[in-house]
Amino acid sequence: MEVLVGKKAGFCFGVNRAVEICLNEINKNDKTTYCLGELVHNKDVINNLKEKGVIFISNIDEIKEESARLVIRAHGVDKEIINQAKERDLDVIDLTCPLVKKIHDIAEEYCKKDFFIILIGNNEHPEIVGTKSHCGKNYFVIEDEDKVLEALYYFQTSGIKNLLVISQTTFSLNKFDKIVKDIEEELDSSINIIVKNTICNATEERQKETEELARQVDYMIIVGGKNSSNTKKLFEISEAYTNAILVENSKELDSNLFINTEKIGIMAGASTPFEIIEEVRKKISEKE
Ligand code: SF4
Repeated sequence: MEVLVGKKAGFCFGVNRAVEICLNEINKNDKTTYCLGELVHNKDVINNLKEKGVIFISNIDEIKEESARLVIRAHGVDKEIINQAKERDLDVIDLTCPLVKKIHDIAEEYCKKDFFIILIGNNEHPEIVGTKSHCGKNYFVIEDEDKVLEALYYFQTSGIKNLLVISQTTFSLNKFDKIVKDIEEELDSSINIIVKNTICNATEERQKETEELARQVDYMIIVGGKNSSNTKKLFEISEAYTNAILVENSKELDSNLFINTEKIGIMAGASTPFEIIEEVRKKISEKE
């Protein structure tokens, strides 16, 4: 049996940065460290941080101390939350990925220039929730192709003549291109439309490599959080070409599934630590 592990599998730059800085902050041992929501979408990483003393909360009102540290997750949060934390004099460690921050800046810039903003992504995803807070009042979130006409209805009834299209960093590149094409086909030439592909390189490269791997193996194993958007996309891509399974770690993996399988590909989401990928690889390899 041949096992191929994707070169782009595992922690991306933004996740690595968030986890490392968070660990350094805990080591200071001076005050309680809280994190709003999951720092990154991976249970093993979160459990490790909990063991080291990080308290995960869903609302800053849960912080009762006057002096505490608040860590902001890699996907970012609603800007009002950061304002409230600063007003309370909390020590804010903003670990929003710089690439997500760049999208916030683009949204703010075009909002000031009187653009209607179409955000392509998952409406409930923490990153989109945060980005929406930088879009002013004139925006619409498109999750799928079937929402294009509804988005354009809101755009056209707003009376605005400028349209900005941006996307969640972890959105599928193929879907993004398709939605942009549909939008452009529906609009007449009097509309000033600016499209910015804000899908991050790490996501794009990982998705491309996943497709390449999936095309050449009999089974793809995707390792990552089941609540991770970028991991789920890797699974969807794999499924389109071969047999695929999504597991959070090696314990969830039944290696009997791969009896008589000649070639297996392993890919992992951006929040999956290297050790977990390695455990999965070992478990399958030991089966030989
Ligand atoms: S996937 Fe991209 S945008 Fe998201 S945290 Fe990683 S580097 Fe940043």
